[in-house]
Amino acid sequence: MQRISIRKPASKGIAIGEAYLYRRKKLEADRALISPKAASRELGRFQDALASARRRIAELGSGSEIFEAHLEIADDPYILETVAAKITGEFKNAELALEETADEIMARFSAIDDEYLRERAADVADVCGRVMRRLKGVPGAGAAGGIDRPVVLVADLLTPSDAAGLDRSLVLGIITAEGGNSGHVAILARGLGLPAVVGASGITDMVPHGSEIILDAVDGEVIVDPDDATREEYSAKARDYRERRRAMEGQSGLPAVTADGRRVLLCANVGSLADVRGAAACGIDGVGLFRTEFLYMERDAFPGEEDQFAAYKAAVQAAPGFVAFRTLDVGGDKELPYFPVEGEDNPALGWRGIRMCLDMTEAFKTQLRALLRASAFGDARIMFPMISSVDELDRALGILAACRRELEARGSAFRPDLKAGMMVETPAAVMCADEFAARCDFFSIGTNDLTQYVLAVDRGNRRVAGSFDPLHPAVLRSVAKAVEAGRAAGIPVAMCGELAGNESAAPLLLGLGLDELSMTAAQIPDVRSILRARSYSGCRELAGRALSAATAAEAAALLGDGQP
Ligand code: PEP
Ligand code: MG
Repeated sequence: MQRISIRKPASKGIAIGEAYLYRRKKLEADRALISPKAASRELGRFQDALASARRRIAELGSGSEIFEAHLEIADDPYILETVAAKITGEFKNAELALEETADEIMARFSAIDDEYLRERAADVADVCGRVMRRLKGVPGAGAAGGIDRPVVLVADLLTPSDAAGLDRSLVLGIITAEGGNSGHVAILARGLGLPAVVGASGITDMVPHGSEIILDAVDGEVIVDPDDATREEYSAKARDYRERRRAMEGQSGLPAVTADGRRVLLCANVGSLADVRGAAACGIDGVGLFRTEFLYMERDAFPGEEDQFAAYKAAVQAAPGFVAFRTLDVGGDKELPYFPVEGEDNPALGWRGIRMCLDMTEAFKTQLRALLRASAFGDARIMFPMISSVDELDRALGILAACRRELEARGSAFRPDLKAGMMVETPAAVMCADEFAARCDFFSIGTNDLTQYVLAVDRGNRRVAGSFDPLHPAVLRSVAKAVEAGRAAGIPVAMCGELAGNESAAPLLLGLGLDELSMTAAQIPDVRSILRARSYSGCRELAGRALSAATAAEAAALLGDGQP
């Protein structure tokens, strides 16, 4: 018997069964160039393969969040145009042109320090793999191809299509060496209630094909070749977990309200229309963070007003409550391929977020007009990122007011009482929270950047990852200060950084007085169930103790299993 500790589960549950090892083979392109005369035939071959892949995705897809996202990728003119330029201009064969294009797109996405955006690379790879198989005439059996008995699937990497093709009655659980918790494999596993761990590096070398394993995707452990007593123990744990899960699912239409009546809104963080649709099914109160960067990253130039308006309007119409759209937050680690920001020694402290938008007024106004127009169709809200001075907020609000006047002159409708708020994610925003609160309609605390800037710890640097801790007293006290300023000014205070979805921190966050927690939609059922079982008075007491903790470890110890 061997025990392997693994990272935080992507989808909770316990699976016991035979391990099925799956290693994906990458189809390599032939490097030979074609003759100029053959270019138009080669392009035709690529177009046919793309059209055929698109038809298949459409067949698989309607109503599926994953395949709708894949259709958007297959329809993206950028892929077709880039491949076409390589075939007709550089005389590359269709497979090589596609492989290079896919690699370029993926390199761009995977360099970003944002798990959500990085995971979109898996979708691009999946769609391109589908087209490649058609070009090479290779049938796509996928991971599901060889599975004919109940197994726990252990793979290097599963594409979203692999995951979507899995038969729930034959796959008891999933472990992958690559991938992140906000990727589609993770999302899909959560949707199916399938225990899963992704990003367990080296796992395919540790688990032999055909061995018996226990995947404990609750406490994060894999046990290979368990003895009888261990198997018995985990079978009982699996039964208990299933019962708890059923009770939790029964609460999905219920509000997150404590036994003594304190209500907190539970909202979703999203990056696309497909995400909004998926989140709507989780019983959310609204969208607390719509990261608009993805819309910009998918294009090969700044999207125009009509293009953006259509995207924002569709999101507002699909969301059950309000949608807080964050205005463009690029620079730093998130780069637009068509707008590189070069020559900065400290990009995280450089020309990014609101600073860039305030310098590029026309592009900023284009986005604000599109957002205002979308507000005629629902409760669209606007949220400014990376604010660090009152002057920045005043200028952003001034530009928003100018956009309102332009739309009025044009006769375009928008919501007159549209709410405009700001992210609290810099120490300056915390220190001057009173002044900011007097000027805007809501706060949303971004704990990812706030932790980075308060602690001076790069959020994307693995070497210092151990020091990146949002439970650090300096971060918790910053949160408390922002909440207090919001309270005093009578504006709601939300949290949309990763900490908001941390279930063991949920009672603490409630106790700190947050009005809204916004997180990956799949985290909502657990957080809801935890909060419904707590009392606000107990949570406030816990928050008081956590605020006087001297270290992050002391604060974490107070959370324990989350019971105040
Ligand atoms: C944050 O900084 O906490 C946040 C939500 O924004 P992002 O992660 O997109 O920078
Ligand atoms: Mg941020």
